[in-house]
Amino acid sequence: MIVQKAFKYRFFPTDGQSAQLARTFGCARYVYNQALDYRSKAWQQQKKSLGYHDTALKLTEWKQEPEKAFLSEVSSVVLQQSLRNLDTAFTNFFEKRAQYPKFKSRRHRQSARYATNAFTFRDGRIILAKQSEPLDMVWSRPLPDDAKIINLTISRDTSGRYFVSILVETDVKPLKKTKTEVGIDVGIMTLATTSDGEKIKNPRPLVKHEKRLRILQRRLSRKDKDSNNRAKARLRVARLHAKISDTRRNMLQQFTTKIISENQAIFVEGLNVVGMLKHPNLAKHIGDAAFAEIFRELEYKAKWYGRTYLPLDRFFPSSKLCSSCGHLLDELPLSVREWDCPCCGAHHDRDINAAINIKLAGQYLLKWLKTTGWDARKVTPTRNERRRSA
Ligand SMILES: [Zn+2]
Repeated sequence: MIVQKAFKYRFFPTDGQSAQLARTFGCARYVYNQALDYRSKAWQQQKKSLGYHDTALKLTEWKQEPEKAFLSEVSSVVLQQSLRNLDTAFTNFFEKRAQYPKFKSRRHRQSARYATNAFTFRDGRIILAKQSEPLDMVWSRPLPDDAKIINLTISRDTSGRYFVSILVETDVKPLKKTKTEVGIDVGIMTLATTSDGEKIKNPRPLVKHEKRLRILQRRLSRKDKDSNNRAKARLRVARLHAKISDTRRNMLQQFTTKIISENQAIFVEGLNVVGMLKHPNLAKHIGDAAFAEIFRELEYKAKWYGRTYLPLDRFFPSSKLCSSCGHLLDELPLSVREWDCPCCGAHHDRDINAAINIKLAGQYLLKWLKTTGWDARKVTPTRNERRRSA
């Protein structure tokens, strides 16, 4: 199966390169914000809906204006890509997948996208448009041999680190079939529990580093505005945030890779992650645990490697159901981690019991879906298919 995969590498720009990239980020951001303003006003004032091509024409006009001459100093391909990104943001908004596009700020992560005609890639060396030296990259993992590059995204995070993310098309081979299946319960106390009883403890990196972060943030707030020391303190805070998110990403990727390689079918509980994020007390830890990221990774890896990924209805009572006899408890507070079934006497670990129930229900649902001719290996069921089976 041909899929798109992104490979991200760190690189270390020369002084000249970082100055040139700063100009590129600035122009890409400027064009994005101007075009956003242009499209928003056209709609508010004339009820006209503009698209990518209208903004591309406008960009040509802007470049003729003497006070916007700086736009010609950077790759025009990058500026067009910026307009395409805005167009995608609008599409996501119209299809109710995202909020209305926001203006980009110089204080956040900066990025610029390079289409294939805006860089060269030869013998493992990348040279960007308007630059002469190749990027000094850390090839932390190899690109697949058959990789066909679609585009590059150059970014600088708030802690000042530079990355190039290479989007490629590559052929992935399905993994060898296995008979094992697994149910996964995700939670706040334990990040994930499998029906085999394996637990992935949530290291809660944010909580662990919270104290340190608080100290750094207090120091930051005491610094004079616009001082050198303030900039340094801000950088320290940003670096700690970067460290936390790196740790989390690695942990989740290792976990989902292992689950996919060992199991033919993966059943999870379809949590309403967005709804839970609105809950003030749970929000921080859940954001930290990044359930949505686990589900997203399991779903696409399952597609790539010929596995079945099946989310259950999120109202399925996986925790309150005894996996031995099927007795349903009236309630089970979050604080209760172990319990005994009043009906059959079985002793349960809360999370493992839930994971077993998810597995059993998933297997049942899968059997039913197969009788309908649904192809389990290729797609996850649509919401309607799931509802029909419930
Ligand atoms: Zn029981």
